[in-house]
Amino acid sequence: MKSKVRKIERWDAPVPQRDDTLCSAHGKASCSRDLVATVILSDAGSDHIKWTVCQHWLDHEPAVGE
Ligand SMILES: [Zn+2]
Repeated sequence: MKSKVRKIERWDAPVPQRDDTLCSAHGKASCSRDLVATVILSDAGSDHIKWTVCQHWLDHEPAVGE
C-alpha cells in the first residue's frame, strides 16, 4: 500500500533502538541504526500512522507530500 509522508519531527539527539523503540521503516531484524525522528504517514487506511525512523531512512526515502 502506498503511503505518504505528512510530517517529519527530528529529535534533538539520536536514540538507540530498544524493545519498545525500533526502526519502523526497516524493522529491528534489518536495521540496527540509532533512531533520529518521528514521522507521520498516511495511507488509504489511516491518515495518522506514527513511525520512528533512522537517519538512513531520512536520507533515502522521504518524499514529503503536501
Ligand atoms: Zn532503519
